[in-house]
Amino acid sequence: MIDLHTHSNFSDGTDTPTLLLNKAMANGLTTIALTDHDTVAGWQEAMDHLRPGLALVLGSEISCQTSDGISVHMLGLLFDQENEALMNAMEQTRENRIGRMHKIVARLNKAGYEITIGEVEAQLSDGATLGRPHLADAMIAKGYMKSREEVFAQLLHNDSPFYVSHYSPTPEVAIALIKQAGGVAVIAHAMSSLRGRTVSPESFQSYVDAGLDGIEVYHRDHTLENRELLSAIADQFDLAKTGSSDYHGNGKLNQLAEFHTDPAEFEKLESRANARRVIRR
Ligand code: AMP
Ligand code: ZN
Ligand code: FE
Ligand code: FE
Repeated sequence: MIDLHTHSNFSDGTDTPTLLLNKAMANGLTTIALTDHDTVAGWQEAMDHLRPGLALVLGSEISCQTSDGISVHMLGLLFDQENEALMNAMEQTRENRIGRMHKIVARLNKAGYEITIGEVEAQLSDGATLGRPHLADAMIAKGYMKSREEVFAQLLHNDSPFYVSHYSPTPEVAIALIKQAGGVAVIAHAMSSLRGRTVSPESFQSYVDAGLDGIEVYHRDHTLENRELLSAIADQFDLAKTGSSDYHGNGKLNQLAEFHTDPAEFEKLESRANARRVIRR
């Protein structure tokens, strides 16, 4: 089984890359992608702890924003981590996430929630990408709420007055950066209605022109209708169709391998990278 979208504690997942790989094997996965938000910081640990029987696809989930302010997540897989343009773009996003978190915390303070940036940072592992889930964890630690789901539903969702966006490239720029770094670009959970506004079916032409390689069709946040629509778009543009868990350890209900990718679709995707970069021991 192939799961092409997972998170570790190098972003807002709760498992270390090592634990993630162990669980992947225990769950019968044959291929797993590590796709932490806007970083490759977890790659080394994953490579160091990879064991025979599991193939590792290194990647990142790149935060993007369209010119009209819609948040999009672009999975970059199998790219060269030495590529400066892509690494610089990710670094800029990570830095911007810090100032953005200060703004969200200030808004919460104004509304009467007593929470400090230090308390948020205390929830973050060393070298990890800061995100709203860490703020949610801090709110939970203070007893305001019981789960990340609850904090997101009440306070931190994309349409909330506490929501602040951060710098991120447009989807087209992110795709171009991933392609220049030799990798493949797969748009993640494009029609998840849980994420506020989503991109229109018409916008895919522009992503394809930028070099899009695949669409994450099978994901728990997609309705059957969403999946059919995305599948039709993938057929129209001859893109690979992926399925994945978007596993976050205890940070979300998503279970490893709950959705997976057909081997033929993965082969199609991998063949579009500029080098063979799947890692096997
Ligand atoms: P950020 O990257 O700071 O914009 O935060 C977005 C991240 O929060 C997403 O990538 C998800 O992993 C996580 N997230 C969004 N909604 C929820 C939710 N309802 N429960 C838990 N985590 C969530
Ligand atoms: Zn996440
Ligand atoms: Fe995402
Ligand atoms: Fe994700």
